[in-house]
Amino acid sequence: MTKKFSVPRGTSDILPEDISLWQEIEAISRNLLDIYNYKEIRTPIFEEIGLFKRSLGQTSDIVNKQLLQLASEKEEGFVLRPEGTASVVRSYIENGLDRKDNLSKLFYFGQMFRGERPQKGRLRQFNQVGVEAIGPNTCSPYLDAEVISLSVTLLEAFGVKDYELKINTLGTLEDKENFSKMLKNGLKDKISNLCDDCRDRFNRNVFRILDCKSSRCQEVVADLKEDNSYLSEESLQYYNKVKEALDILGVKYKECSNLVRGLDYYTHVVFEISSSSLGSQNALGAGGRYNSLVSQLGGSAVDAVGFALGIERILLAIEGKKVSNIKLLDCYVIALDESLFQKAFEILKTLRESGISADISYKATSLKNQMRYANKSCARKTIILGQDELEKGLITLKDMETGEQLQCSFEEIVNKIKE
Ligand code: AMP
Repeated sequence: MTKKFSVPRGTSDILPEDISLWQEIEAISRNLLDIYNYKEIRTPIFEEIGLFKRSLGQTSDIVNKQLLQLASEKEEGFVLRPEGTASVVRSYIENGLDRKDNLSKLFYFGQMFRGERPQKGRLRQFNQVGVEAIGPNTCSPYLDAEVISLSVTLLEAFGVKDYELKINTLGTLEDKENFSKMLKNGLKDKISNLCDDCRDRFNRNVFRILDCKSSRCQEVVADLKEDNSYLSEESLQYYNKVKEALDILGVKYKECSNLVRGLDYYTHVVFEISSSSLGSQNALGAGGRYNSLVSQLGGSAVDAVGFALGIERILLAIEGKKVSNIKLLDCYVIALDESLFQKAFEILKTLRESGISADISYKATSLKNQMRYANKSCARKTIILGQDELEKGLITLKDMETGEQLQCSFEEIVNKIKE
């Protein structure tokens, strides 16, 4: 028997019947991002593996377990991008965007790839809409607040209702180092109570223990007596200003000292948005400030803040939402006999050249059959072309909603359809 092929595990097809919702998400995003003055950037879907090792950190789960590598002779080859920030920063440096604008406000749409164990809401290929605001001397609590506010404004515009925004601060790189020491101190006597992964994380990336999903680790973490003494006075003031600006913008948030984000590049404010309607994979999006990443990747000292939202999770969160704009076809052309196709094709060409969306069945089956195709195409009008009519230079035009029919000459068709 011939082998049937299936879509790879952890990926999915988006069929024409579902595409309107995707297009709507994209249209809403573009509209809002334009209002906030963000410009689109497109980068390749694969990059050098070193880019992600250097930016996300050797100890992050993404780099350790989830990179999908392309076959290569070289040891350090290419991987499918697992996220967008590193690529955008690579492009920012490579194209000298810092010389073009003081602040580059960039956004992207695109597929991301992670070799995860697939489950509901956790895919190997998924889509994100992301925002990065990058520029020298642009570290400002107002920009952070704007970026955070934009992320929830987007979610609300998509129709996501029940979401929770959590924020925290990691402070500067120095503060982060102090935070790491503080955590290690608090955890060192409890290592044996941690899961295998977290025992490993203790030395490699202690922050990750804070967001481990295992109940054993969550109990240990709940007992930790954390405070924000690791933060310098300056970092604390900065954080307070971010919160003030969020209040001005009317953004509701919950402070969460356990929120650390597992990637090396975050400093200062980090945030995550989750939805209680989603089960275990409940993160809709996340982001934060990453002031040292540009220089870490070979650029100059440039500040940056951004976020990424997961489109598939958003679609799960708004499941059942009606799509308002099912695409209608303006006109379906029916030729009742094979010999009429030449004329039918001429008509089809004229319609399309006049900006009228039009289609045809390509085979002169029965009128009933072709009417069925016209209905399935959601056609507003149908042109019926028969031998008698052709001889008189006429066609029959049927309004598919009212059922009304009229005859008109070839020259009148375009105007009658546009009426
Ligand atoms: P992250 O870069 O991991 O913070 O991801 C940002 C957002 O992308 C998450 O909040 C999710 O909404 C989405 N996301 C991340 N990983 C996956 C995945 N494997 N499958 C589907 N969506 C994902």
